[in-house]
Amino acid sequence: LPNSCSGDCPVLPATPSHIVLLPSAGMGHLVPFTRLAVALSAGHGCDVSLVTALPTVSSAESRRIAALFAAFPAIRRLDMRLAALDASAEFPGADPFYVGYEAQRRSVPLLLGPLLAGAGASALVADIALASVAIHVARELHVPCYVFFTASATMLSFKAYFPTYLDGQHAAGRGVGIGDVDVPGVCRIPSSTVPQALHDPDNIFTRQFVANGRALVTADGLLVNAFHAMEPEAVAALRGGSVVAGLPPVFAVGPLMPVNLREGAKAEPNNYRAWLDAQPERSVVYVSFGSRKALAMDQIRELAAGLEACGHRFLWVVKGAVVDRDDAAELSQLLGEGFLRRVQDRGLVTKSWVEQEEVLRHPAVALFVSHCGWNSGTEAAASGVPVLAWPRFADQRVNARVVARAGLGVWVERWSWEGEGRRRWSEQMSSRRR
Ligand code: UDP
Ligand code: UDP
Repeated sequence: LPNSCSGDCPVLPATPSHIVLLPSAGMGHLVPFTRLAVALSAGHGCDVSLVTALPTVSSAESRRIAALFAAFPAIRRLDMRLAALDASAEFPGADPFYVGYEAQRRSVPLLLGPLLAGAGASALVADIALASVAIHVARELHVPCYVFFTASATMLSFKAYFPTYLDGQHAAGRGVGIGDVDVPGVCRIPSSTVPQALHDPDNIFTRQFVANGRALVTADGLLVNAFHAMEPEAVAALRGGSVVAGLPPVFAVGPLMPVNLREGAKAEPNNYRAWLDAQPERSVVYVSFGSRKALAMDQIRELAAGLEACGHRFLWVVKGAVVDRDDAAELSQLLGEGFLRRVQDRGLVTKSWVEQEEVLRHPAVALFVSHCGWNSGTEAAASGVPVLAWPRFADQRVNARVVARAGLGVWVERWSWEGEGRRRWSEQMSSRRR
């Protein structure tokens, strides 16, 4: 279907329905929600509203939201002004996006009900990070609530099963350590692949993750940005009841089709489009670690040395801070003038947003060195660009496993991830070249 999701679709009622979408913080969640909004509105003729939680954590989210409503005026905007939260006092050092989830989770019980009632919503689609609080509000208003899981079906199966795993550990009196987790009917997630935060039961993310995992059985349906061919076991197990009993219907709606809003086109300091156009076919290594995490300084330097040593052309999107608004460092400070000068004939390094979908579809691009955020994984799959996976944190090792198993790329499992000892990237990249 043009402008639509390419996977399963829930059966939509014959009468026009008003679907309210509730994304959470971060581009990794907002991007698939904008795709879903366009698929439902332009593709299926639904009346769609998108809740925008303000303030956003990053400027990339603000730009995406403005561009969506400008390009698709039929999609209605429902602003939700979040109650202030003293993050530095309550969650010192916490990831700003997890704090963003928390701010939304606290405001949803008060603010979502009036928004749904005022809009005359016939269904709510809530982001996974808000599931437990949003389902409760929708239920009180007798509005069906679907949960949209923006990551892989394998990760959804892990999430759905994780509370059962914890209960088992607790009953056996085995303390708080998280070992390997055998997700029934899907796979064994080794302890070293479990998202780092989940090893700490008091971490803000862990509390949200477990509450949301327990709430899945109370949703009216689960949407996941996955497709059967890429994760057949996980999709079948979720549907067949082997992961946890009592899950609602699971719809694999991925890979969601891209929506090119061209929001970066005007303010593009590095003309990466023109640069890509000038490169030979299938010659460029595209390097990006997503929208929400900066590499540690020594890893940035190692990656630079590796890209220099490998001798290939490359387009590298560098982030100097977790949130783009805080990212004031100059490229020369991060990488050194010498490196930038030495690679200027074959490498383009930028700190700006690039339209990744467009980059991956460009004929010059041959390889994607990726952190394996799930959107990046599905975009690589949709564009046929092989992935060299270097997962950094959260669900990315789970995703890297899916990507490797599906034949879409390779993951060198011994490469470190956040919190582990650093390895020398330059050695790894130059040994790959040999
Ligand atoms: N993205 C982009 N340009 C950038 C950085 C990211 O278009 O410069 C998009 C990318 O295509 C993906 C999303 O932002 O759709 C990032 O989501 P993902 O799940 O890959 O990673 P996360 O940023 O959540 O870690
Ligand atoms: N996630 C989840 N439950 C939550 C919050 C997040 O399952 O309560 C998922 C989220 O969709 C992603 C993973 O956990 O698959 C890591 O989330 P995070 O926001 O760190 O990563 P992102 O999606 O931004 O890459």
